[in-house]
Amino acid sequence: MKFSVLTLFPEMFNSLNESIIGKGKEKGLIDINLVNIRDFSKNKHKQVDDTPYGGGAGMVMKADVVYEAYKSLNTKNAKVIFLTPQGKTLNQEKVKKLAQEEHIILLCGHYEGIDQRVIEEIVDEEISIGDYVLTGGEIPAMVLIDSVSRYVEGVIKKESINEESFSDGLLEYPQYTRPEIFLNKRVPEVLLSGNHQEIEKWRKKRSLENTYKKRPELLENKKLSNKDKEFIEEISNASSKNIEPIH
Ligand code: SAM
Repeated sequence: MKFSVLTLFPEMFNSLNESIIGKGKEKGLIDINLVNIRDFSKNKHKQVDDTPYGGGAGMVMKADVVYEAYKSLNTKNAKVIFLTPQGKTLNQEKVKKLAQEEHIILLCGHYEGIDQRVIEEIVDEEISIGDYVLTGGEIPAMVLIDSVSRYVEGVIKKESINEESFSDGLLEYPQYTRPEIFLNKRVPEVLLSGNHQEIEKWRKKRSLENTYKKRPELLENKKLSNKDKEFIEEISNASSKNIEPIH
């Protein structure tokens, strides 16, 4: 899968050379092409921004420079995404859909943003990573690259993706590793039992419990079996009486 990033700060993307995404790049599963927008400024001072028409604080990235940077790319079959707090908020469902794309071009704004005319000309979709404002689109672009790359075949094991938070509309169950006892806290007995059916049951229950306690709104759109509903009722009754459910 290919990502091209239009940015004023390509060095910020060095962190994508590390860990799982770095390995995906080494294996040739992910290709990240960084394009420095500044290289396309025809101004002798390499200026990329100017003051906003109508006045106001900050600087605006110039339409012509961004457009030249975009035109340097092969845009056939590419989807152009502008990272902006005004876009639709990224979620796991969207991440999965984006992983089907062949080539994603990510446009990163900085300062007050980008001249609207080039956004209208080249952008297919606007995506936000949450209702807060960052200094630039580079961190959001990295968030998108990281989350989408996890769905590229070979980057991580399929089982890891299928069993984690949001994959089936629920949050994941708690995880434990060695040692068996830490600060007097024992790993739940069932996880040491070797009984896979019981472990599965326990995990499903903890997953429902985590979701009910931390993100109850996720359960509203989730199709639940009668057993799941009964279990949720149990947790709900226990928490209204301040009783910890039996694990
Ligand atoms: N003036 C803009 C506004 O009010 O909508 C905000 C500009 S922000 C300081 C600079 C750049 O950071 C934006 O053009 C965008 O690329 C990026 N950015 C900031 N917050 C973001 C978010 N929550 N999601 C995605 N991109 C964001």
